[in-house]
This record gives sequence, structure tokens and C-alpha cells, in this order.
Amino acid sequence: MSMQWTRRQMLAQVGIAAAIHTLDPHELCCVMPADAQTTTKDLFELRKVADGVYAAVAAPAFKVNCNAAVILTDDGVIVVDSHSKPSAARALYKEIQGVSKKPVRKVINTHFHWDHWQGNEVYATANPGLEIVTTERTKENLTRPDAGNGGVAFIEKQRAGMPKEIQQLKDEIMKAPNAEAKARLENNLRQAEAYMEELKTLKPALPTRTVTSTVALKEGGREIQLQLLGRGHTDGDVYVYLPKEKVVATGDAVVGSMPFLNDGFPEDWVQTLTALEKLDFNNMILGHGDPAPKSHLTFFRGYLADLVASVKKAAAGGASLDEIKKKVGDELAPKYEAGMSKYPIGQYRDRVGLNVEMVYMKVVKKA
Ligand SMILES: [Zn+2]
Ligand SMILES: [Zn+2]
Repeated sequence: MSMQWTRRQMLAQVGIAAAIHTLDPHELCCVMPADAQTTTKDLFELRKVADGVYAAVAAPAFKVNCNAAVILTDDGVIVVDSHSKPSAARALYKEIQGVSKKPVRKVINTHFHWDHWQGNEVYATANPGLEIVTTERTKENLTRPDAGNGGVAFIEKQRAGMPKEIQQLKDEIMKAPNAEAKARLENNLRQAEAYMEELKTLKPALPTRTVTSTVALKEGGREIQLQLLGRGHTDGDVYVYLPKEKVVATGDAVVGSMPFLNDGFPEDWVQTLTALEKLDFNNMILGHGDPAPKSHLTFFRGYLADLVASVKKAAAGGASLDEIKKKVGDELAPKYEAGMSKYPIGQYRDRVGLNVEMVYMKVVKKA
């Protein structure tokens, strides 16, 4: 569905959503619906983690959305990360307006991956003067042609790749073994087609302010620290830390399922999470998955540390990559399989082979 709406269409939708409101331009943008697949009232669940601090936990979707952190301050709202598409950001924005009518002052992008920043434009359009804040390195990654799984160049890559992905889904639907599988694939196809339409009209809103080391922002009565602790999930990760509320938003440097290592630095990551653990906090808002206590950081870092150690050891013994995948996958399973398989996506057995391969390439072969 096109994002271009006539005034009549827009007013018709506004009429449904907010018949009793007097309209101002700020509201108009936010009640504009996206496609039915992504703008559902259940797309995000706002969970309070401290007074005025929420985890917006994303429902599973074919084109995954990251979680956001929503921080209310005396003079506006701070949002950490903006998902994979404007329709998702719009859906969350609508929910945010249910807890605060104040403008969004800042969007903070934790890293450059596609599913964490492609909705920035929604907040930028609706909030003149919005600052989009990230690390200097993440901004560079967003505009580099070869950064990996995110950035302006990656939008083009996705645009080029979607027709093939859609055709594959159509082929799979033809071969679906039962009605349940067919229905699931058809739902994925609808999401993929809607996503392709959104990609066509995406207007990337890049960061307007960058930091190169840890800073403390004073935001309407709150202290919000942007902690730069080293390389990990990417080389530009920032942790958004609220010292008084004892909450940290981690981006994908800590998630509820198996990590994604393709743009990561496995050995540095373990050190960086050791530095993160030194901060005083109780709750983490993760890049994906439910909010988690600090003990999850110990578990998650333990997995990365054990993964690196096991791959190195197996490689030193002369095993082939395929042998290492099997060996390490089985070796770490008793400690990590259950804890890493709590969600339908990113389960232990689905990812451990790729994790092993990435460590092998990056740490053993140093490719
Ligand atoms: Zn992510
Ligand atoms: Zn990521």
C-alpha cells in the first residue's frame, strides 16, 4: 500500500481513529495507518520497567521489528530504536501517545542494523527539531556502501532482493504440505509484499548528532547516559543507561535468543559485556525478546565466551568447520540450549552452526 495519502483518505482514517479529536499536524501523521499486517494494536506491548520508562516489546513478525525503549521526561519523549519499517514506528508512536502527548525530542539508534533505524523518518516528520543520536561509527556505517546488514546501501540491496524472496514464498506456498503451513506462508507473503511497498517509499532519516565516547545527557529531569563500551554486536554499539532507574537498553548486544554475529566482534564482545556488567542496573531492555534481569547478561556473555573458547580449541585440534559445528553445538547445548530457545525465532539449533562459522572466520581464520 502506498504511503501517499490523499487528504480525503487521510481524513477518513482519522475519522475512524480519532473522531473526537481536533486535528493538528502533529496528530495527523500518527493516526495514518499502514498496512493491516503491521499496524495492529498488538504489534508492540508497552511494558513499564521503571517510572516513566517502558520497554516496547515487538511481536514476532516475518520482517522482524526490534524492541524500543521509551523514556518519558518532563519536556518530551526519548525513543531508543525505530524498527524495520515506518509502519511499525507509526504503530508504536500511536501507543506512545497513549502514555504521553509530549513531542518526541530524541531518537537514539543503538546500531546500524536495518531493523533498528528504518522507522526514524516517522519521528522526524512528526517532530520538527527532533535529534537522531548515535555513535560516530554507527553514522559512518549507515552511509558506508559495505557496512553489512543495515544502512542506506542495504535498503537498496533489500529492494533488489525482495522480488526473489517473494517468488520463493510463492513457490513454497505451492508446495505447502498442509493447510496450516500454507496459511503461515501466505501470511509471510502478505508481510513481504507490504514490506516491499514500504521499502519503495522509505526516506532514510539519518542521525543528526553523534558521540565518540560516553556522555551523560540531562533530559527533562532525567540522566540518560550513552555508554560506549567497545566493539561487540557491531563496531558502533551504544548502550542507553539510566543510572537512577537502574535500567539499560542494550540493542542487539544482548538479546533474548541466539546472537547474530555476522557484523560482530566475538572476542571484543565478551570484554564489552564485562564492562557493561560493571554498571549498576537491575533491568535490561533487550534488542529482541522480553525485558530481562541482569542475570541474563551473565548467561548471554557466558555463551559468547564459551563459544569462542570451544571453537578455538576444536580448530586447534585440527577439526574441519563442519566437524566443529557439530562438536561445539553438542558441547554447549546442555548449558545453553534451553535458555537460548525461548522464542520461535533465533533458537539454539537454528543458529549455533552459523555462530560457530562466524567465530571460525573472524577469530580463527581472522578473515
Ligand atoms: Zn535487531
Ligand atoms: Zn543488530
